[in-house]
Amino acid sequence: KQAAYAELRDVEPFTRCGTRIQVMINAGLRDDISALAMTGADGVGLFRTEFQFLVSATLPQRERQTRLYRDVLDAAGNKPVIFRTVDIGGDKSVPYLASDIADNDENPAMGWRALRLALAREGLMKAQARALLEAGAGRSLHVMFPMVSEPWEFDAAKTVFDEQLAFLRSKKKLLPESIKFGAMLEVPALAEVLDLLLPKLSFLSVGTNDLTQFLFAADRGNPILAQRYDWLSPSILRFLRRVIQNSVGSGVDVAVCGEMGGRRLEALALLGIGFRRLSITPAAVGPIKELVRKVDLAEISAAMTTWLMDPSIDIRRELTLWAEERGI
Ligand code: PEP
Ligand code: MG
Repeated sequence: KQAAYAELRDVEPFTRCGTRIQVMINAGLRDDISALAMTGADGVGLFRTEFQFLVSATLPQRERQTRLYRDVLDAAGNKPVIFRTVDIGGDKSVPYLASDIADNDENPAMGWRALRLALAREGLMKAQARALLEAGAGRSLHVMFPMVSEPWEFDAAKTVFDEQLAFLRSKKKLLPESIKFGAMLEVPALAEVLDLLLPKLSFLSVGTNDLTQFLFAADRGNPILAQRYDWLSPSILRFLRRVIQNSVGSGVDVAVCGEMGGRRLEALALLGIGFRRLSITPAAVGPIKELVRKVDLAEISAAMTTWLMDPSIDIRRELTLWAEERGI
């Protein structure tokens, strides 16, 4: 199997019906980037910048951040890297950022974390914005904000970048050739106001790890709750399908970057409801590329439409049979 996946490295993932699917990787460390060359993935769809913060005993200074981002871009060559601004706080807490607010967080996943924390700790966000803009000098830069709950949060985060950009321009520094901004959709409320958000974005990435824990009010890290919901449940799939439907015509690329996209049946379901871009764990790239090449999109889309009409249908079972019948 491993050898077969290695052979797929240089093969672009076209479906059987000829649609190119973007298969990207999730990463967080400089060394993760070597997986791009090893798997032939299309780029880094999610670079979790908080890893550097989590492994540091003290707040990483701006120069260290710049160095990491530059190294990552160098290692990625001409493949795009989507840097997600820090998602610390909550359960990914770091001692040097301790605060009364975090200490009193009884519900860390829904608490003082990610963009909420970054926007309040202005120095943190400014330093990261500058580090990313400096690292992206002369190249294309992709920046994504985590845990956006309302469109104004996206605006506020982008304003920090605009200010740092204006500063660098005033200093006659080399700027990025292009900058694209995106948001993660992981707070369900954001889906209801997508029409307000989409015109501001270049790309949207659905973080199904957090999104599903919020949809089901079931802690993603609690093993007792792991059986409480299925990524192939009609609630999740209908929700995700609506996100795709509401994005049609907006010109915004919509991806999934949660763990879900790296699993065979789940990836099949995502293709069936209209996703054409997945960012997944590097080990899943080979298996997912292999799967993509066997899929006829019209066929899986028709099947998903039928199955999603009746919430009593066991979609996991149907997908398993469907895949077996087609040797997938
Ligand atoms: C997600 O929530 O699905 C996601 C990709 O982000 P993280 O797992 O880092 O919270
Ligand atoms: Mg998340």
